[in-house]
Amino acid sequence: MTEKRPTDQRPAKLRLAIVGAGPAGIYAADILLKAERNFDVSIDLFDHLPAPYGLVRYGVAPDHPRIKGIISALRDVLDRGDIRIFGNVRFGVDITLDDLRKHYNAVIFATGAVRDADLRIPGIDLVGSYGAARFVSWFDGHPDYPRTWPLEAKQVAVIGNGNVALDVARILAKHADDLLPTEIPANVYDGLKASPVTDVHIFGRRGPTSVKFTPLELRELGELPDVDIVVYDEDFDYDDAARAAVASNKQVFVIDKVLGKWRERAHKLAEDPQAGASRRLHLHFFAKPLELIDDGTGRVGGIRYERTAPDGQGGVVGTGEIRELPVQAVYRAVGYFGSPLPGVPFDKKHGVIPNREGQVLSKGDPSSGAGSANQQLYGVYATGWIKRGPVGLIGHTKSDAMETVRHLINDLGNWWRPESPSEESIVALLDERGVEYTNLDGWHRLDQHEQALGAAEGRVRIKVVPRDEMVAISRAVAPAAAAASA
Ligand SMILES: Cc1cc2nc3c(=O)[nH]c(=O)nc-3n(C[C@H](O)[C@H](O)[C@H](O)COP(=O)(O)OP(=O)(O)OC[C@H]3O[C@@H](n4cnc5c(N)ncnc54)[C@H](O)[C@@H]3O)c2cc1C
Repeated sequence: MTEKRPTDQRPAKLRLAIVGAGPAGIYAADILLKAERNFDVSIDLFDHLPAPYGLVRYGVAPDHPRIKGIISALRDVLDRGDIRIFGNVRFGVDITLDDLRKHYNAVIFATGAVRDADLRIPGIDLVGSYGAARFVSWFDGHPDYPRTWPLEAKQVAVIGNGNVALDVARILAKHADDLLPTEIPANVYDGLKASPVTDVHIFGRRGPTSVKFTPLELRELGELPDVDIVVYDEDFDYDDAARAAVASNKQVFVIDKVLGKWRERAHKLAEDPQAGASRRLHLHFFAKPLELIDDGTGRVGGIRYERTAPDGQGGVVGTGEIRELPVQAVYRAVGYFGSPLPGVPFDKKHGVIPNREGQVLSKGDPSSGAGSANQQLYGVYATGWIKRGPVGLIGHTKSDAMETVRHLINDLGNWWRPESPSEESIVALLDERGVEYTNLDGWHRLDQHEQALGAAEGRVRIKVVPRDEMVAISRAVAPAAAAASA
């Protein structure tokens, strides 16, 4: 898949396709438009969802309005009017890499990571075992996920010690009425309202000083009405490495303080259990999940885990002490993973498009000696989570985009030479294929519609979930059907 280096005739205009209208794609467009350059730019932004903003709309928890507010900044970029949006267009189905080569000088892939990383332990396929990414998609109203979620468990385990684990545990433990001021769709409120959950257990195989939670997100757990946080004294027997981490790292210091307060609260609660809340959120450290236990009917009935201990170097080792806890549902929040795109190289091990600072590299076996591995695939770039893997906050996608765009600009002599670069030609292609794409005006219509649904109930917004309704509202077709979605 090695590209021939094109001759060095410099085009005066860059027709750029960006696939993925999440923060990475939008920042890349913005940075390129503002960059110092000696050529014109015309950008088309494609997304397979009818609405932009990627995981900011469909990943960030609904009760994090400050982070959701980043959408305003992204919207300002789109509202400037110098980027065309084509929503509801799936790369690999509605358009292909060959199509892009015909109509653009280059493409940036910013397709993120949407699925759960695997956790290979026995019982992971039992009924009642779920990936966090799917649950997040459900509570954030993603159009491509079922509208109902089986919330039947009283005791639930969440595996993972990162912020997504906290989001999942918080949404599970929080009373539905406390989520009502947010943008959650009606089906999500109804589902959570009926949940019989009493105890949510978060499991991490390392100690409290090794968690990946951010202090703000952790502290927030302690503020949930009618939810007690339970921590266990046995987890706070710090070794030298843990004490050093508390002393040297501000973030660890704050986390330790927060957990320390909860220990005091847990002691008080132990003296007067009657004063307790109706729901509890337990944090289990040094607890390595080994297996999900079958209840005899193919459903999750419990979790078996091994107690670990510090290894003296900041890691942990198994102690051989095996414990079990009855739970009826398990959510694994052990990371997200990228998905391959047809015709585009993919690194299966890391779930990313192979790249050097955003310049996509041809896939090949470096040991084959054929010389085809790790060569730049001219005209193809990557940014965001699909470039560097699913870690990091929204802000990181900005610096990512800067690096990718810098290379795109410098590679000017090596861009593709499209045969139909006119702006009308891609529109004609989508029309010819009968693709019901949405555009910026359409997004404004959907945005206003969602805000109106919210205003009617004193809320900022209520999301429209079904894809066909999103598309109908955006494309201003069948208004009666769209209005009925309220
Ligand atoms: C549950 C969760 C909570 C988070 N909370 C926070 C938080 O509170 N604060 C924070 O700073 N960060 C948070 N993050 C991280 C943040 O969401 C990411 O850093 C950021 O969204 C990554 O941006 P991206 O543009 O690379 O990917 P994405 O946001 O995933 O955007 C990718 C876009 O590509 C589109 N796409 C994918 N495949 C195709 C295709 N084949 N054709 C067309 N389009 C396609 C998708 O529809 C999507 O719109 C959270 C992440 C998760 C998973």
